[in-house]
Amino acid sequence: MEQFNKVIETLAQGNKPSSADGVTVYESSFEQKDGTNLVMVKSGTDKYLLAAGESDLFSELNGESVGTGKVCALSHENRLVLNKYFDYTVPQAFGTKIATMGLGDRLGVASPGHIETTRNRKVKPILAQQSIRELTLLNRTMTDILDAASFAVFQEGYKDGYGADADHIKLEKDIAYAIELGFSFLTLDCSEQIRNDIEGASSEDIQKEYAGLPVDRKEYFNSHYLNKTFDVQGLEIKFDEDSLVKNVLVYGEAIDFMEHVYNEHVAKADKAIDFEISIDETETVTAPEAHFFVAEELRRRGVTVQSLAPRFCGEFQKGIDYIGDLEQFEKELHEHAEIAKYFGYKLSIHSGSDKFSVFPIIGKYTEGLLHIKTAGTNWLEAVRVIAVENPDLYRRMHVYAEDHFEETLQYYHVTPDLDSVAPLDDTSDADLPKYMDHDAARQLFHVTYGILLTAKDDSGKDLFRTEFFETLLNNEDTYRNGLVKHIGRHLDLLGL
Ligand SMILES: [Zn+2]
Repeated sequence: MEQFNKVIETLAQGNKPSSADGVTVYESSFEQKDGTNLVMVKSGTDKYLLAAGESDLFSELNGESVGTGKVCALSHENRLVLNKYFDYTVPQAFGTKIATMGLGDRLGVASPGHIETTRNRKVKPILAQQSIRELTLLNRTMTDILDAASFAVFQEGYKDGYGADADHIKLEKDIAYAIELGFSFLTLDCSEQIRNDIEGASSEDIQKEYAGLPVDRKEYFNSHYLNKTFDVQGLEIKFDEDSLVKNVLVYGEAIDFMEHVYNEHVAKADKAIDFEISIDETETVTAPEAHFFVAEELRRRGVTVQSLAPRFCGEFQKGIDYIGDLEQFEKELHEHAEIAKYFGYKLSIHSGSDKFSVFPIIGKYTEGLLHIKTAGTNWLEAVRVIAVENPDLYRRMHVYAEDHFEETLQYYHVTPDLDSVAPLDDTSDADLPKYMDHDAARQLFHVTYGILLTAKDDSGKDLFRTEFFETLLNNEDTYRNGLVKHIGRHLDLLGL
């Protein structure tokens, strides 16, 4: 801990310290509050908060005494202390006034780059965003991701606000837990309640099932929709008997669930929550009429949402550009965007990373009434750093990923042509980063992240994890610059 003496001395004098003697000082983090001076530093690959002074803030921080100050780990307890004294380290809701971008940081080290990318743009960052699936694959918890985001905000001295998204949540117990932990954004995944068996069913079977619904429920839907036309900013949406019956059967139960979650959890929360409805993880594309039906039901039931994610036509595969008919996409995106504007919420785009060919279309029609989620692409930029800075590690990870690719297909829908990936043995170290410009290689790494980061050797030691994080933390600026460039390109094309 002696390496910190000088920084602590400077803090005790009330001055801003700078990097020296192997200690990196994150100068933007320097804070003076109630007689306590505080800064974040890095020694080796470990980060700490250093504090000096006298106040409740100083005594509440947990740490080891050094000189007249304290060296504090980036622990969960210390994160809560920062949250208590520095409001900007607490996740917040943004409503619909400004676009938001989900920037799931799978590793807990990407947020500084994300902050730099989104700073001073027409978008707010949702720095913490991870689905239960991703947490499970990485042995991380909801608390870990909130801790990482809060510390990143403090490190960067970023005071313009950020959000935290409990992504793709399906269970009420997880919703309640996420709100209690302080998440500011809730993405309700309704895929368990949306019926996938209606689309292929015969018209006769569908009618029969509808006929079996309670009389007052049928009347509730029929009186409002049957043979009615709705004018949505010039777009005509009509319901005949077939289309109404189908939408009621496909989405009816899901809408009841949305209403229940809103009333029981979102409306009762003691702070504002950005509430997103996700109907994207279904087998069928969300027709504009289906989108309207869900939104109109939410409106009728007094459920306020800040964003809604339909499933768009074409394919939004992880880590690569859009696959599909651009003209059709433009037509449908336009309609979905008009519906979202009509109801006053953001259109939400999931698996939104790397969809460069459709970003200009999305930007044009949503006009900032937009939420877009990205996640895995940040991990791919980290892999690019490994390819540049630690070719030997990259090669070992690449081989392991190829050997274990098949196991990931139970979680992810991707269709890479792995035969098109250049053989590793024929590739020079200097060319390794090019793998991260190749679609199939990107997808190979995209889906194997959990396997790679949790892989162990026979003695139970991490195969890659330790070296991977060491390389990243020793090359923080390379990673930051990579993210600023890559995510910045997304925002440029979206017009944000
Ligand atoms: Zn989704």
